[in-house]
Amino acid sequence: MRPLVVYNTRTRQKEAFRPLNAPHVGMYVCGPTVYGDAHLGHARPAITFDIVFRYLTHLGYKVRYVRNITDVGHLEHDADEGEDKIAKKARLEQLEPMEVAQYYTNRFHDAMHALGCLPPSIEPHATGHIIEQEQLVKEILEAGFAYESNGSVYFDVEAYNKKHRYGVLSGRNLDDIINNSRELAGVGEKKNQADFALWKKAQPEHIMRWPSPWSDGFPGWHCECTAMGRKYLGSHFDIHGGGMDLVFPHHECEIAQAVASQGDEMVHYWIHNNMITINGQKMGKSLGNFITLPQFFSGDHEKLTQAYAPMVIRFFILQAHYRSTVDFSNEALQAAEKGLERLMDAFKAFDRIKTSNEGTVGMEFVEGLKEKCYDAMSDDFNTPIVISHLFDASRTLNLLLDGKETITAEVLAAFKEAFSLFTFDILGLQQGASEGTSAAREEAYGEVVNMLLEQRMKAKQNKDWATSDLIRDRLAALGFEVKDTKDGYSWKLNK
Ligand code: ZN
Repeated sequence: MRPLVVYNTRTRQKEAFRPLNAPHVGMYVCGPTVYGDAHLGHARPAITFDIVFRYLTHLGYKVRYVRNITDVGHLEHDADEGEDKIAKKARLEQLEPMEVAQYYTNRFHDAMHALGCLPPSIEPHATGHIIEQEQLVKEILEAGFAYESNGSVYFDVEAYNKKHRYGVLSGRNLDDIINNSRELAGVGEKKNQADFALWKKAQPEHIMRWPSPWSDGFPGWHCECTAMGRKYLGSHFDIHGGGMDLVFPHHECEIAQAVASQGDEMVHYWIHNNMITINGQKMGKSLGNFITLPQFFSGDHEKLTQAYAPMVIRFFILQAHYRSTVDFSNEALQAAEKGLERLMDAFKAFDRIKTSNEGTVGMEFVEGLKEKCYDAMSDDFNTPIVISHLFDASRTLNLLLDGKETITAEVLAAFKEAFSLFTFDILGLQQGASEGTSAAREEAYGEVVNMLLEQRMKAKQNKDWATSDLIRDRLAALGFEVKDTKDGYSWKLNK
């Protein structure tokens, strides 16, 4: 198998990828919380780990890819005090909580499919694994790294830090964490502000609750990934991934839970994608720059000047290395749209190139292209470099089209195969990039109206007034207002 190098957040360096049980690879990625639509920030980990999944599979590994659904609606960065958002939404809209979770899960799947992300091998739900999470809490209690307080159970960070080190992933130390959190609300039922909830007693108005030895309540957010990762991938597995915003506290807490319960760490390689900013700002509901994926696909948001096809979003994200930040703007997405179009046009050129008996472009060119693309992918999944090699290759395609270079049928076939391997199979791009967007649909509908009105013009020229009126009246019934002008016609749709 080709050697592969990955950056491990845990050791802060690039390492040779050596799975524990090759050719099997276990990969766990933190999935969405399903109380709202996924936004651009969710597209990035989904696409990043889709690339990891595709590439490892291509190299010959048998990857078990687990991505969870968080359907107990924890507040994102503070599982301790968070109100259950799914329950709240359900209460306000008089729905069963699982109805809310299912609705947004379905919409998440639609968005992932549109973005060309392959489904994970297993998609476990937090609510379906309460028993496993309770078991984890019991183990941590028995090991002496947790305590019960008023029906809730908290992880005892100070006790843990005496035996092990809390903060190994984020590089923070416990004193800093405590000093930084002192300003927050009182410690309350916790011994220490840095302690985090493993089990939370439910308040009377809380509708998502399960019985446990401690209280009727719900698990702390960090528990689900530790419990489900271990259930499906074993107590030691290869890759755990997610966005960089999850390093602290979520993944730090996961490491502490694993070590506290089983004595050692569960995960070998921690992989984190960087964040997407919008015009240099972090995304957030309060900032008004929180754009959901369905809004990108429809163009229905005040910050969007047009709709963007899902493939444009994918290409936009792949144009940056997953560990660099990406700044969204309409201009940047429009540039990605043009870039993707150029790449797809280049691919279409393969079928128009005339082959000859001898070629100036030989097999060594194709082999060189493949090696360069493999080298980039095997160097920590460097997709922007792969894309630049594909653009270089499309320049050669143009020279072949213009007859400035020549190629044999055999070399052309190998060239096409290499180009599509990286473009479609490994980068996961798809042809027909702008199909399916509302802008593309409107353009197509407009063309149909023009076609009908051209027929009406012909009917008028032939003095076939019945047909001419029929077309006008039928269009009017659909809301199209047709006006005869000096040179022909104009129309608009009255919505
Ligand atoms: Zn997680």
